[in-house]
Parts: sequence; C-alpha cells; structure tokens
Amino acid sequence: MVKENFIQVQNNIKKACEKAGRNPEEVTLIAVSKTKPVPMLEEAYQAGSRDFGENKVQEIMDKYPVLPADIRWHMIGHLQRNKVKYIIDKAALIHSVDSLRLAEEISSQARKKQVEADILIEVNIAQEESKFGISRAETLSLVEEIAGLPNIHIKGLMTIAPFVENPEDNRKYFRQIKELSVDIIEKNIDNVSMSVLSMGMTGDYMVAVEEGATMVRVGTGIFGERNYN
Ligand SMILES: *Cc1c(COP(=O)(O)O)cnc(C)c1O
Repeated sequence: MVKENFIQVQNNIKKACEKAGRNPEEVTLIAVSKTKPVPMLEEAYQAGSRDFGENKVQEIMDKYPVLPADIRWHMIGHLQRNKVKYIIDKAALIHSVDSLRLAEEISSQARKKQVEADILIEVNIAQEESKFGISRAETLSLVEEIAGLPNIHIKGLMTIAPFVENPEDNRKYFRQIKELSVDIIEKNIDNVSMSVLSMGMTGDYMVAVEEGATMVRVGTGIFGERNYN
C-alpha cells in the first residue's frame, strides 16, 4: 500500500508541475513517517523514497541507525534547544527554526561536531495562535541575525498552512511565502539562500507545488492515518 501511495503522490506532483510549467526534478517529496514503524519506512525506501520527515528527536534517533545510510532525515517538528545535540549530525535539514536562540544552539553544536547545519526558517504565515513559526514581518530581521553565525546555513523557508477542507484556500499563503522568499533574495545577504520552499502537506501539496514549493511534506497520503494512542 505504501509503495502504491508513494507512486501516486509522485504522479500528482508531476501533474501539478505540468500545470505550472515546472520541472518535477525541482520538487523533493519528503515522506513524513512520524509515528510509523520501521517496516513501513522500508517499504517507502524500496519505492524510491530517500527523504523522510520526523517531528520528534527521539524518533529520528531510533530510526536513524536501523535504516539505510543514504536516507536524508528532515527534522520538521518544533525543536527544543536542549535536544539539538542529539540530531545535529543526523538531520540533513532542520525545517523548524523560528528563533535566534535556537539558531545559536544549532550553530554552537554544529561547530562542536565540526559539521555544517542546513536550516529553514519556519514562518507562521496565517498567524495562527496554535502554530510555531515567526511572523512574516519578523522574518527578514531573523534571517539577517542568523546569517552571521558560523556552521549554519539558511537554505529557505518552511510553512505549515492552516488545516482547510479546500486546498485552494491555502493558495494565497503559499504565494505569500514565495513572495517573502523573493524579497529576501533581493537583499543579497551573505550565507543566505532561498532555494528551498518547504510547503504543502497531504491536503494541499498540489496547490503548494503550483505556487513554487521545492519540498512537500506528505505523511497521511503515503502511510495512512496516524494513531497517536
Ligand atoms: C505531520 C506533518 C506533516 C504531514 O502531514 P500529513 O497531513 O499527514 O501529510 C507535514 N509537516 C509537518 C510539519 C508535520 O508535522
């Protein structure tokens, strides 16, 4: 089932790219495997998935050693500063940086382990109370502050759009993220790239791709519903 779902999502991404005149190779599908057991990740791996997303440090630590080494692990959940040290050399990309204090800890741990940390700035584009992420208005100044830190590199922006019935309702937010990334590029800040836009989940990834997503994070659409009990 996982294999068929993975292929289906890949095909949908291709369709969205065709519609928008984009090259599907610009879009990375991240299989969001949080709460899912290792055999299901292995099935996705066999279907061709090399990018997996997790939102808990502990789950990355458990799954990392038992799965193939060519997997790129994406930390997509809220990250506590005291846990950065556990994943700094395991996560290929940290999507959820929304404060200078967190970025400073990532920089410091990366330096200690002599690695380079790639990160995204998480933007709470719809200003939802319940969500992490920095406001659109504060993003540029946070980017400027983080850009000067050693061993850490901003690669782009991430957002979690509101939960909606109709994915079209989120189009405006994806567009705003794209616009924000263009505004930041125009500032030409050293050590800052905006090559990654991580946006779109099971309910809205096709709209996100049409609006310029370069990474989509799909969980339910690949692995089925999650059971948190
Ligand atoms: C769980 C999660 C996803 C995947 O959500 P689905 O709706 O199951 O596709 C994507 N991004 C983040 C940050 C998540 O926590």
